[in-house]
Amino acid sequence: MSKDKKMALVTGGSRGIGRAVCIELARAGYHVIVNYASNSAAAEETVSSCEEAGGSAEYCGFDVSNSEEVSRAFSELKSAHGSLAVLVNNAGIAKDGLLLRLKDQDWDRTLDVNLKGAFLCSREAAKLMVKARNGSIVNISSVVAEMGNPGQAPYCASKAGLIGLTRSMARELASRGITVNAITPGFIKTDMTDALGESLKEEHLKAIPLGRYGEPREVASLVRFLCSGDARYITGQVIGINGGMYM
Ligand code: NAP
Repeated sequence: MSKDKKMALVTGGSRGIGRAVCIELARAGYHVIVNYASNSAAAEETVSSCEEAGGSAEYCGFDVSNSEEVSRAFSELKSAHGSLAVLVNNAGIAKDGLLLRLKDQDWDRTLDVNLKGAFLCSREAAKLMVKARNGSIVNISSVVAEMGNPGQAPYCASKAGLIGLTRSMARELASRGITVNAITPGFIKTDMTDALGESLKEEHLKAIPLGRYGEPREVASLVRFLCSGDARYITGQVIGINGGMYM
């Protein structure tokens, strides 16, 4: 089914924004590799949704922060499919807490998954894309990388780091026809934002000029555009999608 199709890998594709991105890319004609950490049932559901949308997909579990697991996954991808047109570094976690009470392990784990994970996957993806002299990498950062957020120091630092990583990779890879961009979503309806208490959600809503949370499919449309032929002159950019929350 994947024969003759361009390949797209979406990390953290089992749920939320990642799932919407998988469906959108499958609909756009890519064969999508749906990465997940532990929730294989959710990853299977994403694959089914991609197929229902008329596309094709497969799932592949690995921890993006684990160098060995990442290289093994990419080596399998290379043997099975030979190339990679799109990488979306979407896998992310938030281990929140006020600065004075933050534990070392929460800082380390957040930086490992959100930032090192994107580096490890991009390094492997770039090897395949450089050969093809073509490719698109999209990093899912966050509006809080630009604004800061009390109680989210590790998350904000990891997402701000992703912006520096994006710009450096964009400069390094441009001459090989590879674009690298970052998206900074505001509050999007997913498991991650569901975990916030009702009063906090109400509070956040007041700061969004458009007066609502974003939908995962709205972020997915932007990812699809950045990977398309219409966006080949866009690289090293940080593009907000936040209902006007930060401007
Ligand atoms: P989510 O619903 O919590 O889903 C997180 C996804 O990441 C899941 O697919 C999860 O896999 C995967 N994941 C977590 N740790 C992983 C690891 N070590 N290796 C591989 N995959 C891993 O999150 P979301 O709200 O859709 O957010 C997606 C991305 O957008 C994140 O980077 C997040 O920081 C960013 N973002 C979200 C919002 C928002 O409002 N929701 C705003 C700005 C930015 P399992 O299913 O196996 O656990």
